[in-house]
Amino acid sequence: MYKKHFNIPVFIPELACPFQCIYCDQSKISGVEKLPDDQEIVNKIESHLLTIPRGSEVQLAYFGGNFTGISLEQQEHFLKLITPYISEGRISGIRLSTRPDYINDEVLSLLKRHHVRSIELGAQSFDDEVLRKSRRGHTAEVTAAASQRIREYGFSLGLQMMIGLPGDKLEKALNTAHRIVELGADDTRIYPTLVIKGTVLETMFMKKVFTPLKLEEAISWCAEIIPVFEAAGTNILKVGLHPSEGLLSGDDLVAGPFHPSFRELVETRIWRALLEPLTQRSAKSVEISVPPGQINYAVGYGGTNKKMLETKYLNVKFKTSDQLSKRLFSIRLSE
Ligand code: SF4
Repeated sequence: MYKKHFNIPVFIPELACPFQCIYCDQSKISGVEKLPDDQEIVNKIESHLLTIPRGSEVQLAYFGGNFTGISLEQQEHFLKLITPYISEGRISGIRLSTRPDYINDEVLSLLKRHHVRSIELGAQSFDDEVLRKSRRGHTAEVTAAASQRIREYGFSLGLQMMIGLPGDKLEKALNTAHRIVELGADDTRIYPTLVIKGTVLETMFMKKVFTPLKLEEAISWCAEIIPVFEAAGTNILKVGLHPSEGLLSGDDLVAGPFHPSFRELVETRIWRALLEPLTQRSAKSVEISVPPGQINYAVGYGGTNKKMLETKYLNVKFKTSDQLSKRLFSIRLSE
């Protein structure tokens, strides 16, 4: 039977991070924050468990970008905190996110012993020029090697990517998506690069040596990237705001393709391309049947796809059909 899946998120900040990724405001993320104490974590788990329906699959998610960058002792401590919940069957496993260059056999053995099921790496790009210009401090080869090792140990693998970093192009972003698929990632997240106050990227933006993607560009890039993952069966966990950016206030955003409904805009774009040929047909009315989960995207954000069709048809009706899945749709034209 299908079980509903829930993550209980616990943020582990990257204390004294030795890196200088140009898009990151370290003082915000690592300077002010501190590691959560045990009671805080336990309280969080207990309050989440109260709201999660019985019989659901629950994972504890240590996110924050670099779990394996903290000491082995601290990692073990945080992992052991979850063991009682796993023994009682209240939590099924742990997922965490980290940097590709903080993966080695010692770390992987530790994570394996302590019920970690999924490891997500911040790959960001598989183009070395983009990585270098973004001062990520590792190459694409390092991400590939870490990914292979994670899979050899039997973990589920997640690879996150960013689009619109310095030196990035649509072809490079598409290549990154294809590499993520080739490396066997089970899931992915796509983050458009934003210019955040206090970052190197902000200085570059002010000096006009970096221009972020326009919202329109970020939408059309994602509309091309998403089908690559869908064709391969890679689960797309997120398209939009980076988790660390979620911690920032609205005033921290300087520039970039931010939109609170970013994913909906991308899905609208993908549906637009599918529905556009209908504007070449001729009839008075059109009824479009779409899969149940897709109707809002098919109609489009703000009804834009429907409005597009209304320029051609007098009556445009969308309805759902349980017979359809993915983005398959059927049409009925009438006079
Ligand atoms: S994004 Fe880069 S600089 Fe920022 S905390 Fe993570 S590793 Fe450090």
